[in-house]
Amino acid sequence: MIEASCHCGAVHIEVETAPEAVTDCNCSICRRYGTRWAYYSPKQVRITPAETATEIYKWGDKRLEFHRCRVCGCVTHWAAVEKTHDRMGVNTRLMAPEVVAAARVRKLDGADTWTYFGE
Ligand SMILES: [Zn+2]
Repeated sequence: MIEASCHCGAVHIEVETAPEAVTDCNCSICRRYGTRWAYYSPKQVRITPAETATEIYKWGDKRLEFHRCRVCGCVTHWAAVEKTHDRMGVNTRLMAPEVVAAARVRKLDGADTWTYFGE
């Protein structure tokens, strides 16, 4: 079990497996947040408390919810608005450094081509 939490501890996230790779995306939102995402099925992610601890930001086509802690502001995860979508992103910046140290960092050109580069 791998745990992640925001700075103040109000939001806890548990996933079954440590990320093998994390995505460092240069799109307009990710570069500002400074997030490094690991992707999971929502079925593999447990967030507590489930609904109330985070605020949501949506932009563009508004298909994704970017969640942040209401108290300390840390970006915790993104999830699709369409809840049948079997993919979400967890911000691995909230995991212990030793957990993510072994993960490969993949650079995603989300600003333009939506391809990974430099690998
Ligand atoms: Zn917090």
